[in-house]
Amino acid sequence: MNEVDPQARLDIMVSAMLSCVACPLSENRQNVVPGTGPANANIMFIGEGPGANEDLQGYPFVGKSGRLLDELLNMIGWNRKDVYITNTVKCRPPENRDPFESELKICQENWLDPQIAVIQPSIIVPLGLHALQRVIPGMKIGDARGKTFSRNGFTIFPTYHPAAALRQKRYKEILTEDFKQLPSLINNILNKGLRTTVTPPTTDESHQINLC
Ligand code: SF4
Repeated sequence: MNEVDPQARLDIMVSAMLSCVACPLSENRQNVVPGTGPANANIMFIGEGPGANEDLQGYPFVGKSGRLLDELLNMIGWNRKDVYITNTVKCRPPENRDPFESELKICQENWLDPQIAVIQPSIIVPLGLHALQRVIPGMKIGDARGKTFSRNGFTIFPTYHPAAALRQKRYKEILTEDFKQLPSLINNILNKGLRTTVTPPTTDESHQINLC
């Protein structure tokens, strides 16, 4: 299995994810929303959880927040096919409530950590508090945004969730400022050869990695 290339490994993982019933969020979903992007993406964005549009379509960030994310990516010369986009939980919480800690933990152990281990992004960008707390527990988004952190060989660059920018103009200005840093951060990491080399798990063993 270790000889299988990362894209094949990710495809196998996504196939398994589509029938996941590991937590109660499976009960009300229309579709699992695994994530989009190539297995060799240098950057991985992690949002909170699927909303109504994402649940219907099976893709992350397809509503207003997604349009803003596209706008921010385009601003720095990127688009979705260049990056990997996923969420802390892959199934929509009922009525868009916050995911419970138990659901977050189960989905991280089963899917988010394995996705990170296969993709091995140069930068992980948690979008908002829930995603930040999965990779740096206890950290506040207001303190962490726009700064880089190192955890288990990964560079973490938190910023606000695009939904926050839709509610308050000042968050859009901050998001814009943070996204403008991403190209140089990526270039610095790649130029220094600092891309992570954490060994990906096989798909038939317990595949949790601990970012903390
Ligand atoms: S939220 Fe995650 S762990 Fe829970 S059922 Fe969906 S894919 Fe499985």
